[in-house]
Amino acid sequence: MKTLHSKEKEQFKKLFGQEGIDRFEDRLKVLDVFWQMDGHPTAVGVHEVLVDEGVKLDPDFVRETLKLMCQLGFARRSRFGNGEVRYEPLHLGQHHDHMICTKCGRIYEFQSDPLEALQIKIAEAHGFHLLQHRVEFYGICAECLKERIDRMPLDMARPGERLTIIDFTGGTGARMRLMTMGLRVGDSVEVITNINEGQIALAMGNRRLVLGRGLAQKILVRPDRVTPGRPLSHNAED
Ligand SMILES: [Zn+2]
Ligand SMILES: [Zn+2]
Ligand SMILES: [Zn+2]
Repeated sequence: MKTLHSKEKEQFKKLFGQEGIDRFEDRLKVLDVFWQMDGHPTAVGVHEVLVDEGVKLDPDFVRETLKLMCQLGFARRSRFGNGEVRYEPLHLGQHHDHMICTKCGRIYEFQSDPLEALQIKIAEAHGFHLLQHRVEFYGICAECLKERIDRMPLDMARPGERLTIIDFTGGTGARMRLMTMGLRVGDSVEVITNINEGQIALAMGNRRLVLGRGLAQKILVRPDRVTPGRPLSHNAED
């Protein structure tokens, strides 16, 4: 099912010829490998598979070919959560959206007719004619949730996650600092940003708090179950 159909090969040949694009046979090798790959590879990822299969092509050539494929409607590109540029084959007449796990980075595909219909309705209510859309859910996937423990340091929490503070570790100094910031055991907080090794921004009610990573490691939290109907924050891009 995932092999390149002769029909697609024909279209590819025709369009690339029409556009006067050179090195057709090499481009076809890229398309062939790309079409068979699962998921949403980067140009580097596609190049690696080509190398594994003994096809020697320049990484820049591979990247350029993938860009051309997007231009000619054979692929689409996405930068989920401002990450690296990723490509996926564009199958005509098929559509899906994505869920991206902010913990492990896995990308899941889904298709929902009610969601598609709702988007058109919302657009129409604004007098807007919807042509295209991208729906991206950011959160924690089922696999990662399984590994979640009910007691973890705050620095492991992900943006958008709501948590209850259950304990403070560390010495009296750290406890005092947290107390003066207004944090107490039993408080509910929501993570706004948590970027790599940097600070962690939290929302507590209408207040914003910024903690250093060291201090955040001393706060033990329990992730809340998602409560339906509660507004979610929109900070996934951070
Ligand atoms: Zn959609
Ligand atoms: Zn995950
Ligand atoms: Zn996809």
